[in-house]
This record gives sequence, structure tokens and C-alpha cells, in this order.
Amino acid sequence: MVYLTIMRMSQTLCPTLKESPREAEIISHQLLLRAGFIKKTGSGLYTYLPMGLKVLRNIEKIIREEMDKSGALEVQLPAITPAEMWKASGRWEKYGKELLRIEDRHGNEFCYGPTFEEPITNLIDSAVQSYKQLPINLYQITSKFRDEIRPRFGLMRGREFMMKDAYSFHTTDESLNETYKLMEETYIKILKRCGLRFSIVEADNGAIGGSGSKEFMILADTGEDSIVRCTDCGYTANTETANVYYHTEKEINQENNVEKEYIETPGIKTIQDLSNFLNIPKKDIVKTLVYDIDETTIILLLRGDKEINEIKVKNHFKAETLVPSNDETVYRITGVKPGSVGPVNLKEACLIYADKSIQNIQTLIVGANKEDHHLKIPLHEKDFEIKEWIDIVNADTGDICDTCKKGTYEKQRGIEVGHIFKLGTTYTEKMNVKIQNEKGENKNIIMGCYGIGVSRIVAASIEQNHDHKGIIWPHALSPYRGVILISSMKDNTLIEAGEALYETLKNKDIDILLDDRSVSLGTKFKDAELIGIPTQIVIGKNYLTEGTYEVVKRNEGNKSVLNATEIIEYFTN
Ligand code: ATP
Ligand code: MG
Repeated sequence: MVYLTIMRMSQTLCPTLKESPREAEIISHQLLLRAGFIKKTGSGLYTYLPMGLKVLRNIEKIIREEMDKSGALEVQLPAITPAEMWKASGRWEKYGKELLRIEDRHGNEFCYGPTFEEPITNLIDSAVQSYKQLPINLYQITSKFRDEIRPRFGLMRGREFMMKDAYSFHTTDESLNETYKLMEETYIKILKRCGLRFSIVEADNGAIGGSGSKEFMILADTGEDSIVRCTDCGYTANTETANVYYHTEKEINQENNVEKEYIETPGIKTIQDLSNFLNIPKKDIVKTLVYDIDETTIILLLRGDKEINEIKVKNHFKAETLVPSNDETVYRITGVKPGSVGPVNLKEACLIYADKSIQNIQTLIVGANKEDHHLKIPLHEKDFEIKEWIDIVNADTGDICDTCKKGTYEKQRGIEVGHIFKLGTTYTEKMNVKIQNEKGENKNIIMGCYGIGVSRIVAASIEQNHDHKGIIWPHALSPYRGVILISSMKDNTLIEAGEALYETLKNKDIDILLDDRSVSLGTKFKDAELIGIPTQIVIGKNYLTEGTYEVVKRNEGNKSVLNATEIIEYFTN
């Protein structure tokens, strides 16, 4: 009988490619496709082939072990959840198009779970009877579904992806803080075991406020997140979250005693065009933005070289919705179309808020609210009133750190692989989930939530560990501990030696791959390097002359010659 096992290269499904497919923009996506780990099934939808699945399972195993050690309990909720729960929390409307919705044959509405705060809160409501059962931390490792606007970069941003999500429930803030800290420590252990180099950054905590949200970031140029780090005090945060400090006495620009002056700027619509036209740096120009925020409209002023951060704006005003106003609204308020909009001579009363970055500009260049005109105006001339100075821009390289008020920020790119979050009573209030505490008071349960992107870690690990030949898996993630390369399938002695070593190692529970294909040794080497298995063992010349094996380490590339006993020791130690 032929014994089929995926531990043989000749039998497994690992379709390696010489060229990287055109659709793959980043290295991890290219290598996952080229090494035969995944295949695309649809946009943002991937099939894991045997090697890819082994890597995913290795990460899951590490996560499961560390979560179990932390005292969390594993559960599994259905992928599909009823709309009612989402309506109760208000997210059925708020989540928007990322929520993948479906109807059953009776017209009942459901969604594919993108995250599980609602169903898990509902579960706790029905399954926990007494405060004595709290705190409790429940986790699952399951597929999540998000109809991402831009699914891309392979496993990095899929529409179906594997996530470990955990939710903890408490009667006191102290208890939440304890679990939150425990989860941070657990995440550090998990990511270290995965062999990843990462940073922990302060992240947006939404309307809840406080220091209750951290992201775990893999530093990589291909990351979609940006992070700033203070070169002085080390404070690290998402650029969306980091506050910027301005020394008001410094950096004051331009001449004093300017007169208010209209400047003709025919056809100039963007800050860049205006900067070129007037030969003035973008930082000395003021951008005027009109936004609809909940039920009102506001004007926001910021420095021309800065980017607005809508999350900061929303958080500052504790707003539910924030969108740039349409041209009609802008026209109604300012009398012009976007391009010449400014804070003076408004047609309709509108509150004006300014970013702190323009505190240092003495002479403002702003839109004049007159077609094809801008206005030069001293800041302190009372032509318009600034209701409040706020911080609403993305922090950037060179900005002063608001924590130490000394050092400057350095911007880096990162891949978010994990996120821990103090939710407080946001969900339990909306869903009316309460429990009687020891004093007999009926109080909303306090929550925390903790997510890790399992499939994103597969990709992030490759971003950090690869060379021009292919992937270099950290030991803990590699699909196999080693690969045996039989140098020639025409020589029975070599075949038998390869098979024998393979059997010996397998019997010692060492996850080993045997390359028994009838292809050249060169091809076997190329594939082994592409696939990234940490150790290659060549059965070749050395075996025929002295019965030894040539061992090549993928990460160092150095070769050594070991005998049979040494090989076993190498893998068992
Ligand atoms: P992002 O800002 O990258 O969209 P998120 O803030 O929406 O992430 P969370 O809701 O905090 O992500 O989800 C927890 C984790 O799940 C993230 O830290 C990330 O690692 C992973 N993740 C989120 N969206 C995706 C996706 N589309 N594909 C793969 N992994 C994802
Ligand atoms: Mg997202």
C-alpha cells in the first residue's frame, strides 16, 4: 500500500512559482503566492494551501497556549449573528458598508461577524447569573468578515481573515485594569514567541477617552499605519493619537506690521498651487475646511502642511458623524466654491475652530471667500473669532512631543497586529446588560476587548523575515523544522538514506519534510529557500563518501557536516 503523507514534497500541494504574480504589491504577498502557501479565491479571499495552513495553525497554537495560561476561556460563536443584537447597540446603522449583511429565506437579517462585542455581551447576559462569576475573559480564534473598501496586500487586509478576539467582563474598573494589563503581558509573550519585533503604541480610544487603548505594531515600511516616537522620552503613539506641543514664542513667521491685503490668485485651488504661486512655504498658509458634524456645520483652520485627523476632531466634539461638507453647504456658508474658502466675511454664521499649529503664524494667508482671491491678514486682527484652539492634525516628524514638551517626533510605518481596548460600559449600557454587585446595586457590566490578527501575523512575519531568495521563517512559525533534500533520485543509496533519516526523525515527532521529487538538487535548494524552512539537510556526496549529512541554516546560510547521531541531537535539543 502507498502511504500518502503531506510530509513529502512529491505528494504535498505546494505550487511554487518562479515569478511573482503581478497582483502582489508587497513582499509578503508575493512570497506567500510564490512559495505556494496561499491561492486567491476572490478579492480579499484566500485559500490556505497545506504549508500556509501549517503556519496559521502554529500561530494559533501559540495564542491558544498563552491565552489559556492567562486564565481566559475558549469559546466559539457562530460566524453569523442576528441583526437584532447589532440594532440594540446601534452598530447595525453605524458600521456602514464594511458589515457584510445577509438575509435568510424568511427575510430575517443577519451579518457575518466582523468582531463580536454584541453577541458576546448577549451571551454574558444570558449565561452569567452572579457577580461571583466575574471577572471572566472569553476568547475565540475564528474567521472574521469585513467588506473592506480596499482589500489588498494578500493576507494583510482580507475580507475574510483569522482573528483571535477576547472580551472580558468586570464589576469594577480595578478588575478591568488588571485583565487589561494581563492581556498586554500575554500579547508581549505571544508576539515574542512568534519571533516578531514589535512596538506597543498608544492608540485612539474613541469617545471613551483615557489611556485605555494600545496597538501592537510591527515596524515595516509597507505598513498602513503611521506611528510617531519621541526621540527624547520614547513616548510612542499612532499619529492619530499623538498630541503635538507648540512653543508659542518660537517659530513666529514673516514680517510684523502687515496690512490686510487681498491677493489675486486666478485658478489656484490647492495649497500646493498657492504655495508655488506666492512662493511661500505651505506651513505659512492656512487651510480652511468645512465639515458637517452631527447636525451642525463647523469651520476648521489648520496649517497648510498638516493633515486633518478626523478621529481627533470626532473625539474632541464627542461626535457620532463627521463628513466634509458638500459644495452646496460650503457655498451657502462662504459664498464661494472650495478653493477660495476662508474664515472671514461669512455669509452664514458658523463656529470656527483652529488647530494649535497656526498659533505661531502671525500673518495668515487664507481664502478670501471671493472667487480667485486670497487674503493676507494679521492673526490677531479681529476679523473673525476663533471659538477654540484644538489639536486636530496628524502628528508628524519634527513635531514637538506633548508628553515631554522637549523631544521631537520621528514618524515610522507600522502594521497593526494586535489591539487591546478598555470598552467600559459602552456596549452594556446600550444593550442593557447589568448585574447585581456585592452591595446589591444593579450596575452595567464593565468590558474590555482584545484582538490579534492571526492571518495578518503570517504576512507581517514575512515582511520582517525574508531575503532575495525567499521567506526565512522564525522556528516557531515554520511549517516544518527542517527539509531533507535527496540530491539525486537516480541513486538508490541516497534515496534509502533520505527515507531512513526521514523515518527516524518522524518517529521522534520532529516535523520534517522530505524533498523526494525527481528534480535537480538546484531546484530543491531554490524551493527550500523560497519556502523558508529553517534547516536544509542534504543527502549527497558527503553521505556516499563518509556517511554524513550537509546541514544548511536558512537564516545564516552557513554549512556544517553532521553524522546521524548529531542530526538527531540537533533536532531534539
Ligand atoms: P485596521 O485599522 O488595520 O483596519 P482595525 O483597527 O479595524 O484594523 P481591529 O478591529 O482592532 O482592527 O481588529 C483586531 C485585529 O485584527 C487588528 O489588530 C488586525 O491585526 C486584524 N485585522 C483587522 N482587519 C483585518 C483585515 N481586514 N485583514 C486581516 N487582519 C485584520
Ligand atoms: Mg479596520
